[in-house]
Amino acid sequence: MKQKILIIEDEPDVVELVRYNLVEAGFVVEAALTGAEGLRMARTASPNLILLDLMLPEIDGLQVCKLLRHDSKTSGIPIIMVTAKSSEIDRVLGLELGADDYVTKPFSPRELTLRVRKMLERARLPDVPRESFHFDDLLVDIPRHVVSVRSKRIDLTATEFKLLVTLIQRPGLVQSRDQLLRDVWDYDQQIDTRTVDTHMRRLREKLGPIGAKYLDTVRGMGYRFLEN
Ligand code: CA
Repeated sequence: MKQKILIIEDEPDVVELVRYNLVEAGFVVEAALTGAEGLRMARTASPNLILLDLMLPEIDGLQVCKLLRHDSKTSGIPIIMVTAKSSEIDRVLGLELGADDYVTKPFSPRELTLRVRKMLERARLPDVPRESFHFDDLLVDIPRHVVSVRSKRIDLTATEFKLLVTLIQRPGLVQSRDQLLRDVWDYDQQIDTRTVDTHMRRLREKLGPIGAKYLDTVRGMGYRFLEN
């Protein structure tokens, strides 16, 4: 079955360019020209991924992203934010908003299609072994894609889940930001390592004291999952 991408973007030219390229690449594409319409379609059309423009009239992209993340019907859908402002990237990927990735305008349609593919592959998580991990109050059930602390389920995005699992599977070993970008994000070329930092920050925050205890920053080196 074809995977469905929802584009939320107010510029019809951009919508048509992106739609053309994604349809060529084998996706089904739906488009919304306003934030409100986008929110409604995200709930009803169940897209596999959302491309969300930052600059939208009325409800802007940041607000839309926040609302998508707070709605249990849409909170698990990967979001790629499209932005012209690099100054917003930290906020976009950060705790508050929780987009999974971003693309800056102007973008090449080819690059965008590549990012969409990678994000969808990552969300599928096909290559992790069928195992579960238990540390104190933390349970990570990989096959079922469930993380809980004291039996309370923690909602993680696909990226946060893969980041956590990647660290857990190499306990005690320091992993550099570049290595994590390769293993979690599948990026071969250098991209901004702040991506890793903002996702780590958000993952820790969601896990609370358990996150602070096990997810260790090694200054100047990277991150590791501590074993007791
Ligand atoms: Ca716009």
